[in-house]
Amino acid sequence: MTSTQPKPTTTDAGIPVESDEHSLTVGPDGPILLQDHYAIEQMAQFNRERVPERQPHAKGSGAFGQFDVTADVSAYTKAAVFQPGAKTRMVARFSTVAGERGSPDTWRDPRGFALKFYTTEGNYDMVGNNTPVFFLRDPMKFQHFIRSQKRRADNNLRDHDMQWDFWTLSPESAHQVTWLMGDRGIPRTWRQMNGYSSHTYMWVNAGGERFWVKYHFISDQGIECLTQAEADALASADGDYHTRDLFAAIGRGEYPSWTLKMQIMPFGDAATYRFNPFDMTKVWPHADYPLVEVGRMTLDRNPTDYHSEIEQLAVEPSNLVPGIGPSPDKMLLGRMFSYPDAHRARIGANYNQLPVNAPVAPVNSYSKDGPMRYAKVSDPVYAPNSKGGPRADTERYGEPAGWYADGEMVHAAQTLHAEDDDWGQAGTLVREVMDDAARDRLVGNIVGHLLDGVSEPVLERAFEYWRNVDEDLGRRVEKGVRAGES
Ligand code: NDP
Repeated sequence: MTSTQPKPTTTDAGIPVESDEHSLTVGPDGPILLQDHYAIEQMAQFNRERVPERQPHAKGSGAFGQFDVTADVSAYTKAAVFQPGAKTRMVARFSTVAGERGSPDTWRDPRGFALKFYTTEGNYDMVGNNTPVFFLRDPMKFQHFIRSQKRRADNNLRDHDMQWDFWTLSPESAHQVTWLMGDRGIPRTWRQMNGYSSHTYMWVNAGGERFWVKYHFISDQGIECLTQAEADALASADGDYHTRDLFAAIGRGEYPSWTLKMQIMPFGDAATYRFNPFDMTKVWPHADYPLVEVGRMTLDRNPTDYHSEIEQLAVEPSNLVPGIGPSPDKMLLGRMFSYPDAHRARIGANYNQLPVNAPVAPVNSYSKDGPMRYAKVSDPVYAPNSKGGPRADTERYGEPAGWYADGEMVHAAQTLHAEDDDWGQAGTLVREVMDDAARDRLVGNIVGHLLDGVSEPVLERAFEYWRNVDEDLGRRVEKGVRAGES
């Protein structure tokens, strides 16, 4: 066979097939025979091609790349991935939140910014967003929030009335909604947006000293956004605009990169800082905790099989390596349960064996069996054992990155710090970061959104919500909506 000849088609068992085009029949017009195993295999496999879409963050894509450490942050973390000179292969997935798998890339929505680093100490995942804050601070409300953003029960339509109903009854959403309705609510491309951990994490250095940290992946391409009009036009002209842009750029050899910078808070500052540092609806102002450079992430390889490399990619905030730990951020703690749970439900118990999810570090776990398992386990299959099986290195890894906690069991809000309230940082964004033109666009975006099916009394609550963020903004929103209604 010469190299120009196509490979012979086979069944999934590698057996050469007789025809790509005609099923086996009794005479050219006769019934199809059950013994045509290849025709049946093709039909049966097709029926099973989909795994359930992600709930939420269903629409997205991604690419592979490398993280290069360019600075020395060993004073703050012992994690191998962040030690001077370390180079680590990784994969990134970007996504919208509320839309389904076929929904437009350019809907106004936060963007997922999910990373998996294949480190020498096991996989390290950071499942962030393109915004440094979130709508909520308690995972109890997450399911309800996402349902309010997705579809109604009766007509299966998205509904701005239920979105604003939820938001106006959840004032902690104000900072993120202000962000979302502002210029950065729709990135021009995934390459031109920042990524944030949003959560606060803990870093621990080799001496056992602890720090609270927030991650900022700053786009080296610069920030560019779409106006609502541009995004609307693209949603109908090219629903896959962001997916196409990333794939094409990497295909051209224009590798997008992001510089990782950290905000680092000494452990002891947390108790008295003016904002609760574990509240996911708040940022740490840069003036309080300036950005400290760590390294650069560069995406340099497109997937070759979207399904196996991106659709089945399973990132989870629970993948924390030595030197990195969780914080008391309730949203983070909730996600540490829900992400691996979602992967088991969506892909199966052995999702970590798929090549895109498998670590480069050796796996010496006692997990065994389950559907589609192919990594072999060997005896002994239990611990403790006296048969030479893996044994936890407690001396080296016995103290995970953690904090001390005690108290009564309560259903209660987070502790309020001196300047904690739901409106303050949203107001700062409007008054101190946005200029007049950006504020005009913000008013236009909010008014347009509210005029799309939001009813009383939700509307009245929305005016009050925006007056709480900024008196003048609230007045302009009300005026714009009342003018548009008439
Ligand atoms: P700074 O003046 O130090 O920084 C303002 C930040 O806002 C910059 O990161 C800027 O990005 C970003 N920004 C500019 N325009 C917009 C927009 N339309 N929507 C969202 N972000 C925008 O401010 P502080 O750190 O004191 O924070 C003030 C406010 O800025 C916060 O309440 C928060 O809403 C917002 N912000 C704060 C961040 C933080 O981690 N501290 C991060 C991002 C936003 P750039 O430098 O690229 O222009």
